[in-house]
Amino acid sequence: MYCPFCGHVETKVTDSRLAGEGRQIRRRRECLSCGERFTTFETAELTMPLVVKSDRTREPFDEAKLRTGMGKALEKRPVGQEAVEEAVSRVCHKLRSLGEREVSSREVGEVVMDELRRLDEVAYVRFASVYRSFQDLDAFREEIERLRPHARRREESRDQLPLLPGAGAPEEPPVAPRRESERRK
Ligand SMILES: [Zn+2]
Repeated sequence: MYCPFCGHVETKVTDSRLAGEGRQIRRRRECLSCGERFTTFETAELTMPLVVKSDRTREPFDEAKLRTGMGKALEKRPVGQEAVEEAVSRVCHKLRSLGEREVSSREVGEVVMDELRRLDEVAYVRFASVYRSFQDLDAFREEIERLRPHARRREESRDQLPLLPGAGAPEEPPVAPRRESERRK
């Protein structure tokens, strides 16, 4: 690193030792230009990134909150507590190893969904439906708008059925294929 006194690029390490119970390396350095001495500390950065929410506010990552959220999705599902704990620590590890100071709550959600998908499909769907709809209200509204005409049309056709007793109904054998799709569920 540059000398903090004169900005010269070359410094010599005169001493190097462990500090902070082995979590740091303390180095004594001497500038090769001005001869000033200074100390640097080196630590591994293992802090969790801040979570940037959709309203742009930031909050510290909360492992307890993560555990609660995953637990809610997994409620009454056949997944052991040990597997849940492993998933929680994998989420934490992934977020830490991104090496970013900040991650969006969306990214956190995606990491959680990856883990839930592996653990239990029902939990995954539960989490995804809640998470995605709260995360992006506009997209949720669009989805509802898109679904609405279909629902309305289905209601209309149901109302009209008694008015068309057998007339114009397509002569299809709908029973066999329907059974197929039921079996697949
Ligand atoms: Zn210097």
